[in-house]
Amino acid sequence: MVDRLVNSEANARRIAMVENCFGSSGQPLAEQGRVLVGEGVLTKMCRKKPKARQFFLFNDILVYGNIVINKKKYNKQHVIPLEEVKLESLKDEGQHRNGWLIRTASKSFAVYAATATEKEEWMAHIEKCIEDLLRKSGKQPPSEHAAVWVPDNEATVCMHCKKTQFTVLNRRHHCRKCGSVVCGGCSSKRWLLRGQSSKPLRVCLQCYDELTRERSRDADPAAPPVKAAEGAGSGGDSSGDDDSDDDDDRVAQEKHDEPKFYSDGDKTEESNNHAAKEAGGK
Ligand SMILES: [Zn+2]
Ligand SMILES: [Zn+2]
Repeated sequence: MVDRLVNSEANARRIAMVENCFGSSGQPLAEQGRVLVGEGVLTKMCRKKPKARQFFLFNDILVYGNIVINKKKYNKQHVIPLEEVKLESLKDEGQHRNGWLIRTASKSFAVYAATATEKEEWMAHIEKCIEDLLRKSGKQPPSEHAAVWVPDNEATVCMHCKKTQFTVLNRRHHCRKCGSVVCGGCSSKRWLLRGQSSKPLRVCLQCYDELTRERSRDADPAAPPVKAAEGAGSGGDSSGDDDSDDDDDRVAQEKHDEPKFYSDGDKTEESNNHAAKEAGGK
């Protein structure tokens, strides 16, 4: 099905439209063989609270951004290669319903759809794209993924020492290995997490101990020890602690638009029934 869309004018038009909406804040998206598979609004769990984000699913990348003007203008574009993505369904919990995790080596986060059906559609389409990509490239999906950050408001005290109360002065920090919200004292160590950065990143004391044990077990005597940055605890370094797309909150919440998936929903254009049966493929 997707193959038939590759050369279609409608597909080219849609991609141009997406590029247009991001304007100079985004990168060029039109590429040989790239197909826009679907689009819609999902609620992304950010550091402070859940926020509406516009998502575009292509056959090889997932793009999302902040909504400046619904359907017209987006910014803060993020592009995630689908080959690196692993999805994980989340159980409904209180307010948080119809969610799943989008995990990659460098960043992992939760998103929520408006309904269970939309969740199913999104997940099925994303999974299908990943499957097709990996089959074509013969690559293995990555085994290590970045931690999903616990949202700030879920922790009023440090999740490690369970003592430090967070205040304006006692700021929250996130362990880059497990995603816990911890105090400065409990996250004074750094560790080199290669999937996420070339610089050592903040980790909690528990993860630091585990990583240290793991390394001595794997014992690569040639590897130089990573010097932990001691005493960075108070005040100083909070750089990189902020979720980069966390600001800019001006989302006028309009009526909910259902997501659009072009490979199966667009009956007026390329779709016809026997195409769906080629699924087994060669
Ligand atoms: Zn603590
Ligand atoms: Zn940790």
